Amino acid sequence: MTKIEKDMSCRDDFDPKSLSADAALEQIKSGVSRIKGIEKIAIRETLNRILAEDIRSGINVPSATNSAMDGYAVNSGDIPPGGNAELNVLGTAWAGKPFSGKLSAGSSVRIMTGAIMPDGADTVIIQEDVQPVGSSIRIDGSTRKGDNVRQAGEDIAAGDLILSKGRRLNPADIGLIASLGIAEVCVVRRLRVAFFSTGDELRSIGETLSDGAIYDSNRYTLYGMLERMGADIIDMGVIKDDRDALEEAFAIAAVNADVLITSGGVSVGEADYVKEILAKLGRVDFWKVAIKPGRPLAFGQVGNAVFFGLPGNPVSVMVTFYEFVQPALRKMIGEDDTGILTLKARCDSRLKKRPGRVEYQRGILRRDEDGSLVVVKTGAQGSGILSSMSQANCFIILTIDSSGVEPGMYVDIQPFSGLV
Ligand code: AMP
Ligand code: MG
Repeated sequence: MTKIEKDMSCRDDFDPKSLSADAALEQIKSGVSRIKGIEKIAIRETLNRILAEDIRSGINVPSATNSAMDGYAVNSGDIPPGGNAELNVLGTAWAGKPFSGKLSAGSSVRIMTGAIMPDGADTVIIQEDVQPVGSSIRIDGSTRKGDNVRQAGEDIAAGDLILSKGRRLNPADIGLIASLGIAEVCVVRRLRVAFFSTGDELRSIGETLSDGAIYDSNRYTLYGMLERMGADIIDMGVIKDDRDALEEAFAIAAVNADVLITSGGVSVGEADYVKEILAKLGRVDFWKVAIKPGRPLAFGQVGNAVFFGLPGNPVSVMVTFYEFVQPALRKMIGEDDTGILTLKARCDSRLKKRPGRVEYQRGILRRDEDGSLVVVKTGAQGSGILSSMSQANCFIILTIDSSGVEPGMYVDIQPFSGLV
């Protein structure tokens, strides 16, 4: 290494052979296609599933013009422009039990919230603005025509497009579908995702740890992330760094899954088996993606399954899953690409970084006393420190050229969760 090269490598992380995160994502997205298969299921079962049809309303919501308040239904022509007027009360309209008569001039009907407006009435005067006088009421001129009335179809009109194909259904959506009286809808079938971990040092829970061995955690984070996406999960366990065992595992996934995700064994020097096996059973590209953590990444095909070879480090697995795998899985199930919510926040920590890679540091986001968003880092940012990811509630994203952040500077953050 020349002196200049040595200086460069100290000052930055640029690697001319690496692929930008955007380019990697583009290649991945164009390398996967929409799966076939839909199922019609009861709406209670559709939480988090992807809608496979457009939903249009067959009815008006509300179905009839009704009162928004408890009060008296009147004809606006009987409301005095100034002073007072007295109106007869002909009867009562209840929610679910309408008043069957018709309003004549100078009359009113006692009405409850949600009750259908009687014929001849167009306005509701709230009960607080009315004085009872024997079997009549005294009103003033303060209520305007149409006040306190909900028009038929004002929320949803018959024929309106309510939800579009490709939407991930949330609790509000399910309620909305129920409000239209629809019992079942078509959703995309679940994506079958297989995964296994590779590494001779890995032990499963229940096994004893010998020297240098560690418990496999990647299968559990992958399980959680895939479960949240609504995938059908095939956990294939830990596969030893052994050619035959690996080939058998790849062959099983190739016929049983839409997607295979492995972790570990894709860094230079470790990937030989994967290369050989996929030369036989499919194809694969190995990339150095200019991100941190998560630089080595393999992407390809094994039989009918899309293959993602993620790095082994626990934080790298999560970052590469969110950045590259999740968008691809979303495309495969036809989910709308809504992008990831990115906000700006003031960073109160000093963040170390060298230019050359986009970094996903782990942060804790909160509001300070005057309501501004502030983020601090979770501590050590090594790619093996899974506790930093567990403590975090957001990623702090540092651009490829950034050479660090001083306290008080603004940074881009991606919150991990929100209300749905
Ligand atoms: P590798 O990418 O196989 O070189 O692994 C990188 C680092 O991640 C090593 O320290 C591995 O021990 C660790 N590692 C790999 N797979 C797992 C796993 N499934 N769970 C926890 N740590 C892992
Ligand atoms: Mg390994």
